[in-house]
Amino acid sequence: MRESDKNLNRRQFLQSTAIAVGAMAAVGAGVTYLQKVTAENRINQDFFRLPGAIDESDFIYACIKCGLCVQICPINAIKLAGINEGLAYGSPYIDVRAQACDFSCDSLQCVETCPTAALYFKQFKRAGEKAIQAYDATHKVDKDYNPFPIQIMAMKTRVRMGMAQINENTCLAFQGKGFKGNPRGNDFKGINRSPYTNDPKATPVREKIYNEDPCNLCVKECPIGGKAIVMEENTKKGGKITPKVLKGCTGCGVCVMVCPTKEPSITVEPYKS
Ligand code: SF4
Ligand code: SF4
Ligand code: SF4
Repeated sequence: MRESDKNLNRRQFLQSTAIAVGAMAAVGAGVTYLQKVTAENRINQDFFRLPGAIDESDFIYACIKCGLCVQICPINAIKLAGINEGLAYGSPYIDVRAQACDFSCDSLQCVETCPTAALYFKQFKRAGEKAIQAYDATHKVDKDYNPFPIQIMAMKTRVRMGMAQINENTCLAFQGKGFKGNPRGNDFKGINRSPYTNDPKATPVREKIYNEDPCNLCVKECPIGGKAIVMEENTKKGGKITPKVLKGCTGCGVCVMVCPTKEPSITVEPYKS
């Protein structure tokens, strides 16, 4: 081969390599840009996530959509986002009006099982350990005592999915009304483990018949109890006894699920971070 032909081939080779590398870099940058733009467009802070979910802008990347949380939840509270949710497709969420997290699993199993810390468990582990230490320090503890209930309650109360809010215009108690009967009708599929009878079973909401005056279902069924929501005399409402949400609300949504008004008179605003 002549020297001039050799130089031409080398030049052609270098040119085509440079073009290929440039094209690959451009495609790579384009894909990264599109992923970022699409993800940012799909970050919906109103998505109601699970106990322990990290901030939505990180959750969307950290969740690998493995579905383990869905499988482990004993009351099927966790659903997967549909295809119209872009990059959030397949990520877990809870529709609290249909089926709230009533902590039926008793150990935040969805959080424990998450393999990527999109649901962050350490905070609950620490809360449980601290509660046991505090209990041990103030009680004369028999070595055979069962620390599990103390640990579990501390873990549940550490959950912050959101904060309940009452609509005073529709809440029956704010209108001075009571409630009798089954709150969601015979076709309602949601289930709830009663917080006040220590019932180990989760019972269908349709099997629970109430007779409360004033209505207090949200308070009665709250799995956290008096740190989250109470009935109290409301001087601004002529001394009516009405529900009041407190700082200990976990946002679990059981109150929303059991509220008997057509549109729930109590809703949960998800935490933004
Ligand atoms: S913490 Fe709630 S959502 Fe998670 S597995 Fe337990 S019952 Fe289901
Ligand atoms: S259950 Fe609903 S209607 Fe009844 S007191 Fe609570 S928010 Fe009001
Ligand atoms: S007030 Fe409602 S959302 Fe808050 S902890 Fe109680 S049941 Fe859950």
